[in-house]
Amino acid sequence: MKNIVMIAPPGAGKGTQSELLMSKYGYMHISTGDLIREEMAKGTELGKSVEQIMKSGHFVSTEIVTELLEKCLKEMNNEHPFILDGYPRKLEQCTILDSVLKRIEKSIDVVFYLEMTEEEAKNRILGRMTCPKCHRSFNRFSPSRMPKVEGICDDCHSLLETRSDDTEETFKTRYQEFIQESKPILSYYENLGILKRIDNSGTPEETFSQIESVIQ
Ligand SMILES: [Zn+2]
Repeated sequence: MKNIVMIAPPGAGKGTQSELLMSKYGYMHISTGDLIREEMAKGTELGKSVEQIMKSGHFVSTEIVTELLEKCLKEMNNEHPFILDGYPRKLEQCTILDSVLKRIEKSIDVVFYLEMTEEEAKNRILGRMTCPKCHRSFNRFSPSRMPKVEGICDDCHSLLETRSDDTEETFKTRYQEFIQESKPILSYYENLGILKRIDNSGTPEETFSQIESVIQ
């Protein structure tokens, strides 16, 4: 099975795709955000210093994130393929990742980019609504996921809640930041010949079947 790096704009449903890969193919999901949170929860020396850094409003450095990532990859048993999520986030991290993997004799085999337009991503995020009672989710901009009655849950008829913290303005900033950050990373992997662009404009199932056809 192929080891994966997953890159996607906000709202693309990266989490859903990762979950499908985990349940169907036994993938391990490695998110650097989770690794940082776990380290803090464990209360190690490193965890404590990370907590200090974050409390003071700074970003955790590439050195620390890489250290956590290397430790996790090293401890992982080789039977399970992995999905890397949230790393590399900068171009310099691509080469760092390469040398880490080389050291521990692992590799990245494919980099998926879940492609969608800014408009599609925006609608997914800003249109998101959930039922507070049965937790079913809807989207007021998506014909296939719109509730039958506006603002009301199809199943239990509760009043739906808007789930997004984003406004149109904050979404735009977040999306543009993502595009700027990911551009050099995508071309790095394109040059290595392992970038696969996935059309993410359809349903999660449609996206997943494209992913499956690459990893099988
Ligand atoms: Zn409901």
